[in-house]
Amino acid sequence: MQLTANFTLDELTRTTTGLPNVPNRSERAALLALAEHVLQPLRDALGQPVLVTSGFRSTAVNRAVGGVPSSQHRSGQAADIHVSGMTAMALARRIVALGLPFDQLIEEFGQWVHVSYGPLQRRQQLIAVRREGRTRYLQGVT
Ligand SMILES: [Zn+2]
Repeated sequence: MQLTANFTLDELTRTTTGLPNVPNRSERAALLALAEHVLQPLRDALGQPVLVTSGFRSTAVNRAVGGVPSSQHRSGQAADIHVSGMTAMALARRIVALGLPFDQLIEEFGQWVHVSYGPLQRRQQLIAVRREGRTRYLQGVT
């Protein structure tokens, strides 16, 4: 099922866990909103593919990958993305510079960008780093 010109429901629900990962109606609506308001405008601005490594997560998938129960991946509001040839930090900064209406943006471990879209639109910007085996969040990506 095509959500926008370049994003499908399939790629936003893909999982390597082998567990069921089927969004309900409101979770599908959240994925569509994320694609329409953030992912597709980003893809259009960059002119190159935005690869989604993790989008929606069912309760079982979220548990299997160690996600917190309150994760916005659970509700279909978040995706982890990367773009070939761009560092995660450059991608995060580009999303801010474009003025996309994200809720939360996290540059995670220099590897990928977690971006969410939701009603709060906090425009929260964080950098996730691992220190002494624990994840810490630093303020700001710019
Ligand atoms: Zn994420």
